[in-house]
Amino acid sequence: MSTPVQKQYWELKKQNPEAMLFFRLGDFYELFYEDAQIASKLLGIALTARHKGTENEMPMCGFPHHAHSEYLEKLVEHGYKVAIAEQKEADDGKISRYIDRVITPGTTLEHGNLDPNRNNYLMSLGRSKDQKHLALAYCDLSTGEFRTASFGDPGAFWEEVHRVGAKEILLPQSLFSDETFYNYCPRVHITPQDATKLKHIEAVLAKHFSVKSLEAFGLTGVPELINVVGMVITYLDETQKTQLTHLKKVTRYSLDDYMLLDQQTYQHLEIFQPNYTMQKGGTLASVFEKSLTPMGGRRLHQYLARPLINLKKIQHRQEGVRTFVENYDLKTSLKQNLKAIPDLERLLARMVTGRGNARDMVMLREGLKPFQEITIILQKSDSDIINKKAKCFEGFENLQKKLKEQLLDNPPLEVTQGGMFCSGVNAKLDALRNLTKDADAWLDEFLAKEKARSGINNVRIKYSKNFGFCLEVSTAQSQAAPENWIRRQTLVNAERFTTPELAEYESKVLSSQGESYALEHELFLTLRDEVLSYAEPLQLAAQAIGDIDAMLTLARTADKNRWTAPVFSGEKGSLQVLNGRHPVVESLSGEPFIANDLVMEKGSLLHIITGPNMAGKSTFLRQNAVIVFLAQTGSYVPAEKVTMPVFDRIFTRVGASDHLAGGKSTFYMEMSETAHILHHVTDRSFVILDELGRGTSTFDGLSLAWAITQYLHDAVDCKTLLATHYHELIDLGETLKNAKNYHVSVAQNKDGIIFLRKIEPGGIADSFGIEVAKSAGIPRAVIEQARQVLVKLESEDLLGQPTLFNLPLQNSRVNPEPQKETSEVEAKLKTIDPDHLAPKEALELIYELKALSQD
Ligand code: ATP
Repeated sequence: MSTPVQKQYWELKKQNPEAMLFFRLGDFYELFYEDAQIASKLLGIALTARHKGTENEMPMCGFPHHAHSEYLEKLVEHGYKVAIAEQKEADDGKISRYIDRVITPGTTLEHGNLDPNRNNYLMSLGRSKDQKHLALAYCDLSTGEFRTASFGDPGAFWEEVHRVGAKEILLPQSLFSDETFYNYCPRVHITPQDATKLKHIEAVLAKHFSVKSLEAFGLTGVPELINVVGMVITYLDETQKTQLTHLKKVTRYSLDDYMLLDQQTYQHLEIFQPNYTMQKGGTLASVFEKSLTPMGGRRLHQYLARPLINLKKIQHRQEGVRTFVENYDLKTSLKQNLKAIPDLERLLARMVTGRGNARDMVMLREGLKPFQEITIILQKSDSDIINKKAKCFEGFENLQKKLKEQLLDNPPLEVTQGGMFCSGVNAKLDALRNLTKDADAWLDEFLAKEKARSGINNVRIKYSKNFGFCLEVSTAQSQAAPENWIRRQTLVNAERFTTPELAEYESKVLSSQGESYALEHELFLTLRDEVLSYAEPLQLAAQAIGDIDAMLTLARTADKNRWTAPVFSGEKGSLQVLNGRHPVVESLSGEPFIANDLVMEKGSLLHIITGPNMAGKSTFLRQNAVIVFLAQTGSYVPAEKVTMPVFDRIFTRVGASDHLAGGKSTFYMEMSETAHILHHVTDRSFVILDELGRGTSTFDGLSLAWAITQYLHDAVDCKTLLATHYHELIDLGETLKNAKNYHVSVAQNKDGIIFLRKIEPGGIADSFGIEVAKSAGIPRAVIEQARQVLVKLESEDLLGQPTLFNLPLQNSRVNPEPQKETSEVEAKLKTIDPDHLAPKEALELIYELKALSQD
């Protein structure tokens, strides 16, 4: 690399020290030094070096510029920022370089980095000066969504940060040294300046949103919100270096609009990620039918991420779903039309930020085609909620007509090489094209001729604004240039030549070709501006498609799985589920799912559920939590009939989990999750507790389980389902006013227990743990000894008896050989042929076996 280029490299690297620098050299992007060492490994490309073996050795790697997307996406996927340094040619032919844009995990618009069904958020966090409030803002550059909120409660704040799940988080300098913030954030970037100059930030935001004051967004007088919103906009400006007109507004929201669900609950109910099974499809999200559009997929994800709490809003959404469930024609005709719609939100974002090309516009044109039909279909619906949306699809006829009249069907990806516009669009373009219609063929022929004459195989034709058409060869091969090649331009790695023949043809014809390319580019920019003048209505249409598709997906799912619409009965009514099912277990399990009822009302707000291991207690608890959850997203539910109040929260405490890396034991985690519940639960909450107090000594655990249950009953009065193997808690079910005992029924036969999976009234004091352990493959010797220990334990009055802890378990490393007694019984059994036993002999044999087993 020559010195001036090296200087350019270091200047650009200094501006973007954190980013991998893709430095454009001719037709290649090159990376140098540490960037090259990291990238070559991650991308699997060869690491070479300039000035190898000298003290100026420069490690480097690179790839052709047209193949850069794949490499860029991979680095961004690994969490790196990438700065793209492009080259530009001045009138005097000098080439300089500048940062065109910086791509980061939270701002990428690259196809390969974006999941069509998920948002890609960039988030900023902040704290008020008096430290009483925490604030966040998050933005999906690829769709234009931009939201902000302020929190008094740190717990709720962090829950929300988790829920949003941003790809990249911005912190102000002042919070960077704060451990809570730093430790949490997986991909943190510090904003260069601390966002403290409020007036300045307000002015930046007012300019961005084209408003006089931030009043309209509810930000006035809330400095922490202005700061976090400002951080996002400043960062986007710095990285995108382009207009961001599709970010038209920022919405201030409050958690009061949504049902609060903590991380554990999302995990325990396996809403998005499987917890217990690593089986593909083991999540609630996977039970839903596939959405027809990316907008619908993202909106459905948002529905599931934020169940509602406002009855009107729930009913509003449910009404939309019902309209589709009940109207087959509406559903099928919409389905046909939605299928054809591309990702309008992301197409628009590419257009706004200058990354769009003519192919994107053709896609947009095709996506507008079904709009008219959709308008007619929606207008026909007798539901207000649905037919009101029809107007979002009106008014695009002119745009669609223009795109159809002007654009060819298969334009190239490049916007500066012509080939995008139809003839008849522009008279001058037509004239220029007429002049040059044979030019491509002439150039091909000329190139073939010069290749043969010079013997240089990779000579290429290049066009540049200042030097016109040239023959380009690499510096090394330029020595072989024939005599009549005239040097026109020297590049870093290449030389450009002309020939008298080329110069003559160019002056006659080829200059018109260049002119026509330039004219097409201008026409493209004009057409793009035309598209952008529709940005707002297009965004609204895309959002309407998201809503319609998400509701349609809920309806298709309800249809397919025989779900029904839950009925809401005010704030504190009873919860009644008739024949409820667990949608995930039902869809994955090989055996038929046994439906169960649940009635929680005065006198039975707290259910204590006992029963054998593996009987179906957890499933029953979780299926009811899932039913409540689904109902409040506006969805139908997997049950024959459900009547329920609107719950403020769902709390779950399920199974054992630990956080060893965080220094927290299983029992500690259990207790801290339970503490969280007890601090936040209200009489309008729905709580499921699957096992309490298991990770400590039996007496400690039982005492805690007892006290926690009683607290929820006496002090909170919420609806609680508790599954337990502490059979002592059955007493509570009998004595507490609003508690009831239930059990999951089983039957027994000679092979062991049969799970009936039916919830029945009353508690049972047998867990059949040893039977289940046996079927799980515990060695027979262990099972036999466990049986003996159990008999012994059950023969004593254990509670209150210290003997519990003095039982003869010293022989805890069980002898793998079968016990002597067992062998005798077995030996005797082996000698018997049951088909030849008389009834009397059989009876005698039983006496004999019994005597043997008691020896
Ligand atoms: P443990 O006390 O050992 O935790 P459990 O009583 O909570 O057990 P679950 O985990 O709910 O039992 O159920 C065990 C398995 O039984 C489930 O994984 C599921 O495959 C099946 N199952 C549970 N309930 C039903 C049902 N109602 N219909 C069909 N299969 C069911």
